[in-house]
Amino acid sequence: MDKRRLGRTNLQVSQVGFGGTWISELPADQAIAVVRLAFELGINYFDTTPLDGDSEVKIGVALEDVRSECVYATKTGSRTKRESLDDVQNSLKRLRTNHLDIIQLHGIDDEKTLTKAMGEDGSLQTCKDAKKEGFVSFIGITGHRPRVLTKAIETGEFETVLVPINIVTQQALEELLPTAKALDVGVVAMKPLSAKTSNLITCLYQPSLSLVSQEPELKALLGENADQQVTSALHYVLGQDVASVIPGLCSINEVEVAANAGDNYSSLTAEERKYFDFDLGDSCRDCGACMPCPQKVNIPAILRFQSFKEVYGLTEWAKKLYGGLEVKADKCSGCGECMPKCPYELQIERKLKKAHTDFTEKTA
Ligand code: SF4
Ligand code: SF4
Repeated sequence: MDKRRLGRTNLQVSQVGFGGTWISELPADQAIAVVRLAFELGINYFDTTPLDGDSEVKIGVALEDVRSECVYATKTGSRTKRESLDDVQNSLKRLRTNHLDIIQLHGIDDEKTLTKAMGEDGSLQTCKDAKKEGFVSFIGITGHRPRVLTKAIETGEFETVLVPINIVTQQALEELLPTAKALDVGVVAMKPLSAKTSNLITCLYQPSLSLVSQEPELKALLGENADQQVTSALHYVLGQDVASVIPGLCSINEVEVAANAGDNYSSLTAEERKYFDFDLGDSCRDCGACMPCPQKVNIPAILRFQSFKEVYGLTEWAKKLYGGLEVKADKCSGCGECMPKCPYELQIERKLKKAHTDFTEKTA
């Protein structure tokens, strides 16, 4: 598989990498087989986190004898020096290694959190100390809000950034990726296929339907062409300025499909370009800029479910997801706080009202 340079780390990473979230849900022997196959098929970039159950342990066991050929990127979700020091030490043990290639400040989604993590007593300081002492080679940052991540990398403290990118979630392409390119920060794309929200596996657009979903409606929509759709979804992300794309992988088939997508990519084909050339219109882009809502309405989730219904005709699936939300759209008080924050000027209140009607109306 072709490798790409990960920004100024100068690490050469497989253009398709391994997202370690889902292996925590597999029995150890299966997880180890999945990770090992990924390595054998040319994947050398393994992203994990202590927050994903025993993902680090399984990667550590599966790759112990080939450690030097792999790039390990793990995370600290702690915000203070003391706690993140424990995180780094525990990750080293669990991954069975004496150094982490990349330690990432995990889930930095607002400026307050960024300021805390970068403060005198923050987790960044631990990462810098660990780097000085040789336990860590590079420091990265992860999050879901490209604007916050852009601010973070502009400080010059981070050598990599991990952010969701897929055909619907494109905010990173607007400012973050050009800034990363200018500063030579390595970009890794997560969630090219799906995202997990509120314990519900959600899917963002047709080619991204979750590989792991057993929902009959989704399976039917993907049809026999599922592998090709997944391949196209990965190729879309590889067509952007990223070093690696890391789908969460948890089966032999998924690893084979993902590795094959990486093996067979050099640029988007004319057919793929045509496929991805569509106007998102007034669909929600799931950027989260409108949050938080004082009434705790999960605006992006509700509008995403609405897209499932309107764009893909997944009415029952969308209703089911909506039904699982604790706070429904009718809790919106009409305070108007969210709309000025939406970069796409969406009529959020009107959309929420419509979603609630659509998802709660009785079908005859
Ligand atoms: S208008 Fe409704 S959805 Fe928007 S912030 Fe106010 S309560 Fe929340
Ligand atoms: S409604 Fe607007 S601000 Fe909120 S998530 Fe969607 S696109 Fe982003």
